[in-house]
Amino acid sequence: MKVIETLDEIRAQVREWKKEGRSIGLVPTMGYLHEGHGSLIQQAVAQNARVVVSDFVNPMQFSSPGEDLEEYPRDLEQDTAFCEQLGADVIFHPAPEVMYPHPFLTYVDVDQVTEGLCGASRPDMFRGVCTVISKLFHLITPDRAYFGKKDAQQLAVIRKMTEDLNFDVEIIGVAIVREQDGLAKSSRNTYLTQEERNVAPMIYQVLKAAKKAVEQGQTDAAVLSSAFMDAMAEEPLFDPEYAEIVDQQTMQPVKRVKGDGSCLMAVAVRLGKARLIDNIEL
Ligand code: AMP
Repeated sequence: MKVIETLDEIRAQVREWKKEGRSIGLVPTMGYLHEGHGSLIQQAVAQNARVVVSDFVNPMQFSSPGEDLEEYPRDLEQDTAFCEQLGADVIFHPAPEVMYPHPFLTYVDVDQVTEGLCGASRPDMFRGVCTVISKLFHLITPDRAYFGKKDAQQLAVIRKMTEDLNFDVEIIGVAIVREQDGLAKSSRNTYLTQEERNVAPMIYQVLKAAKKAVEQGQTDAAVLSSAFMDAMAEEPLFDPEYAEIVDQQTMQPVKRVKGDGSCLMAVAVRLGKARLIDNIEL
């Protein structure tokens, strides 16, 4: 497995694979890989002749106030061993100045889908995500690209961008991977103290309770959202940011849950230094 850091080299590698008629899968990540990323990589390896894992802490998506760019955990050596073990072919690990030569003046913005949920408190994040993913799509020209359903809004935004800008790539959403106690795996879980880590699984327990309530006939989105916020209020360590029921495709709020899997309950909760997001299909 190769670690590639330059644009010329990744382009040359992709050109070679295309000449050989190989299909290419892309797994975009910010590194510090865990089994959540692993599940995307495994699916990519199963479905493509060659797999590129991009490992890039994208500064452009950290430009809202109070973001954790400096502290974001990094470990290229461990990531390389992890990818190699799973059968990826290349880690693409460019330096920020390689991806963003100065001055960098071009951005990709998606409207509406980006406006609520995480887009409300992190207004620049999706511009950063869409710009970097567009660049990766151009550089790597993957047949398929893999995104986790944990970041449900990101997945919806990327699907819309791909459709609107005619990227010739299949976007594949991969199920959320959780710790045994239900906490969604995340590189940011390393920010949690032991005490915070102990209460964190409550987020998923309350999401599951919402799903159960829907199965028992509750369809009122406002009731479901307030029940989540009320449950979070019982643990003083939690500082919930939002709990919303949205359409999975448009990310627009719905008033009534249809119960056909088209909606999800998406939540963001601050817990100590970490901002945890999670969701459940209803
Ligand atoms: P990140 O490195 O956090 O930007 O994540 C890179 C990709 O891995 C994104 O598409 C995430 O949605 C996905 N991902 C991260 N954590 C998980 C998880 N626990 N389960 C499934 N996918 C995940």
